[in-house]
Amino acid sequence: MSAYDFNLDYVPTWCPGCGNFGIFNSLKKAFTTLELDLEQTVLVNGIGCSSKIGQYVNCYRIETLHGRSLPVATGIKLANHGLTVIAEGGDGDGMGLGMGHFVHTARRNLDISYFIHNNQVYGLTKGQTSPTSELGMFTKFTPPPLGNVERPVNIVDMAISLGASFVARAYTGDMNLLADMMVQAIRHRGFAVVDILQPCVSFNSVNTYAWYQQRVRNIADDHDPANREQAKSLAGRWGDEIPVGVFFREERPTFADSMAQLKDRTLTAKTLSGVDISGLMADLA
Ligand code: SF4
Repeated sequence: MSAYDFNLDYVPTWCPGCGNFGIFNSLKKAFTTLELDLEQTVLVNGIGCSSKIGQYVNCYRIETLHGRSLPVATGIKLANHGLTVIAEGGDGDGMGLGMGHFVHTARRNLDISYFIHNNQVYGLTKGQTSPTSELGMFTKFTPPPLGNVERPVNIVDMAISLGASFVARAYTGDMNLLADMMVQAIRHRGFAVVDILQPCVSFNSVNTYAWYQQRVRNIADDHDPANREQAKSLAGRWGDEIPVGVFFREERPTFADSMAQLKDRTLTAKTLSGVDISGLMADLA
């Protein structure tokens, strides 16, 4: 297979230079590396510039409501846990409207990959601050002299704390590393979060390609992802140096592993024939 197999006939409408192009290409590269079966792969999106990625990738896909990709991905995974389920969306979609779902998906350790396009701004609605915007960031809606007065959410730190069993960060300017993080996340059995640093060339004049290029540092050579305390310490670094790579990984039972009903086969493979539901129907009458 080649990356072209995952293309549709639509031309992406992102702004020229948008970091979403790097994520799009990395995702196709990861799919190719994994030789994913298109008929067994589902991409679930929320709403936003990032979530438009589902309109361009050739596999099963659902565009849900704003911030609701994870509950829909959860339903798909529980109905058929044999599928490869990937949720994807922006920092506003996932850390704002979808924050509650993020908390519970992480602690349940559902076997879902979640790729967060983190551009630290709401791009589709023209540049409001998002939950990951830097303190003091100026936008049309948070003008000088104060700028943004809310502290940003640290996605990596929070994902580790909540119980995600694979947590990584990547940068869209390094597509090889990003594709590798995606491959590892999809291979991992459990909730796998990748915080993807993605410049928004139209509305974020702080976190640019040049800004990231000077700061990102791969932690692969000097960090053991089994070390939770070190992972938390690295997650807290943000400034002159921004760590990227796999922060944390642990093997533990997934949500589906814990459900007796899902042990032998998927719900979609089960049949109700031979089961007497007349009592249930009588109760509902
Ligand atoms: Fe990309 Fe920002 Fe343009 Fe949206 S507004 S397509 S995030 S550059």
